[in-house]
Amino acid sequence: MARTIIVSNRLPVKVQRDDNGDLQYKPSEGGLATGLGSIYKKGDNVWVGWPGLYFNDKNKESKKEVTERLSSENMEPVYLSESEIKLFYEGFSNETLWPTFHYFNQYALYKRSYYEAYKKVNQKFCDAVLELANPDDTIWIHDYQLMLVPDMIREKLPDASIGFFLHIPFPSFEVFRLLPWRRELLDGVLGSDLVGFHTYDDMRHFLSAVSRICYIGNQQGQITKDRRTIVIDSFPIGIDYDKYANSSSAPSTLSKEVRFRTSIGDQKLMLSIDRLDYSKGIPARLEIFDIFLSKYPEYQGKVSLIMVVVPSRDNVEKYKDLKEEVDLLVGRINGKYGSMNWTPIHYFYRSFPLEDLSAFYRMADVALVTPMRDGMNLVCKEYVASKLDKRGVLILSEMAGASKELSEALIVNPNDKHQVVDAIYKALKMPVDEQEKHMAFMQKTIKKFNIHHWVKLFLDRLDNVKERQKTMGTKVMDTKMRDDIITDFKTSDKRLLFLDYDGTLVPFNSDPQEAKPDKELIDILHKLTSLDNTNVVIISGRDKNTLQNWLGDIDVEFVGEHGVWLKMRDEDWKTIDNLDNSWKDEIRPILEMYSDKTPRSFIEEKDYSLVWHYRQVETGLGELRAREIISHLKYLSSNMNLEVLEGNKVVEIKNLEVNKGKATTRWIGSGKKNKFILAVGDDWTDEDTFKAMPKGACTVKVGDLKSAAKYSVKDHEAVRELLGMMADS
Ligand code: UDP
Repeated sequence: MARTIIVSNRLPVKVQRDDNGDLQYKPSEGGLATGLGSIYKKGDNVWVGWPGLYFNDKNKESKKEVTERLSSENMEPVYLSESEIKLFYEGFSNETLWPTFHYFNQYALYKRSYYEAYKKVNQKFCDAVLELANPDDTIWIHDYQLMLVPDMIREKLPDASIGFFLHIPFPSFEVFRLLPWRRELLDGVLGSDLVGFHTYDDMRHFLSAVSRICYIGNQQGQITKDRRTIVIDSFPIGIDYDKYANSSSAPSTLSKEVRFRTSIGDQKLMLSIDRLDYSKGIPARLEIFDIFLSKYPEYQGKVSLIMVVVPSRDNVEKYKDLKEEVDLLVGRINGKYGSMNWTPIHYFYRSFPLEDLSAFYRMADVALVTPMRDGMNLVCKEYVASKLDKRGVLILSEMAGASKELSEALIVNPNDKHQVVDAIYKALKMPVDEQEKHMAFMQKTIKKFNIHHWVKLFLDRLDNVKERQKTMGTKVMDTKMRDDIITDFKTSDKRLLFLDYDGTLVPFNSDPQEAKPDKELIDILHKLTSLDNTNVVIISGRDKNTLQNWLGDIDVEFVGEHGVWLKMRDEDWKTIDNLDNSWKDEIRPILEMYSDKTPRSFIEEKDYSLVWHYRQVETGLGELRAREIISHLKYLSSNMNLEVLEGNKVVEIKNLEVNKGKATTRWIGSGKKNKFILAVGDDWTDEDTFKAMPKGACTVKVGDLKSAAKYSVKDHEAVRELLGMMADS
């Protein structure tokens, strides 16, 4: 039976040595571990990750013990050396990717040695998965430390179901492009079938980076790469709502609250809880509190800030500097405003167990969550879930992913310090009924979209994406299918081949003049046409003169301009009679208007169509203009009996009567019974051809799998290989 394999940098347990050197196993209490607990503990499922401890050659025995213990609990350890952690984790992950993805690119280090270690460790994770995985397993990879793993696995297990979720923000293209390894990182992630982000903005940024860097566009969040459809979507992560709600009313929490209250006094309380990180905006928050106390002096002695800062990444230089800055600011503000019976900031540089956090959440009149950038931020959700009496106000930075769901909070821009100061004032003054109303709304949202909901949503979607891939009508042509087609060709006493030109017989080229046939292609066509009872029809959108110049010496037949012009064996070119061309005078000025405002675009005039080309236009702008043209022409064209076709970097306007499918009827229907028919094409104008073919015909799409064709092949080389084998048969 297919299994689910979870992969993340850390396992949901931390293995440590105590003072006696004995091994300790400390399970993670984080939301992800809880949410995925129901998955990896089931049956043969497994979680692959680093257990958090180094081993050297001397302690092989304890390494074995750890492996056995973890494996009995459905976990598979990946062991990392001290230097790997330094270069891969502290280095590339936390000194290159983390700052870049959080828009602190001025802190990012671009070191080749970091990237090399990242690649090596990603390969290590991939190998650990491959040791365990079967070809049809579901593999869910987590976060920025493992972005190369999806594609590494895909290479070895082409049919596996692979999901990737990024737990931090994905930056805009302008920031992401700064990374020297941007292409490798995107290619790595695109090995997945489903890619998830916290917010729509992250997903949008990712799609834009893929389009700019990999030149792959998307349709409603779907990307096609190597003939595989990849879905990109947003799945905002939730918390274990019941855990926080229950903990908030637990007797141990209530007694903690009484103890804290007694020592703090009955002043108003604001709360902030973060890991020590520059993305959290801790110094700015302290400055904001300073401004607040001086702008509203009536609150001096009346309100305190409880600030919990959890130590983090203290081996990384930037974090050491930040710690000093925070210590200094707290000291300065307490020194400036404090009195014998009032401390403005209660500052804790350590972590607390759940019951203490719950007591803080209960006590806080205001939660001040003002990161400069945060993928989601769970603290604000935990605060809301803990407010059983619905009293309290959340001030939330618009730069946190959570702000998209919690719009009833007081949403602020953390860079606008005076706005935050005023929000604090407003929060402290907010009437109770207003607090209750907002809190009730937010609770409803996060109760429903909890961590279990998130896990189910992602995994169900991954199943669904895979299922859709499998049931697509178009099948990747394997060697057996190809051999069967060649046998059919050989044994048939009459053969008819419809071959599209650009993208099918020659690679799609950004300069149309570069697509001339080469010797290999000319040889194949000569051979095919010299076989008995074999007709080859080149069926193209190109104009008749180009086709004639390039291929006129070969005994092929032609459909030019999508069916406006036909040339049958031993006949002259002929066109469809009575085709109206007067519409061109109305449409041409519209296209000219778009060309005038779009550098490097141009109009091509064919006998019975007009084509607007944007191959050389700045990526994104061309697509935007194409959309504008299509919507501009939508109503006009239906009244004028025209069709607007969107091709590869072109918009073509032509008479509705003309299409490749209709043109093929001149050949089909007149032949003998035992006829072998092949139609090959890459563009969506070729879909008309596929649909017009009789049932038994062999239809082949070049490129992706979204097609009415029966088979799909990778590129023009695969087409030439197929035709070459027919020619030699
Ligand atoms: N947390 C904790 N002990 C503490 C302070 C915080 O366990 O003393 C937890 C907190 O409850 C939350 C997590 O740390 O679940 C912080 O998650 P968040 O998404 O807010 O920030 P991150 O650290 O992931 O950037």
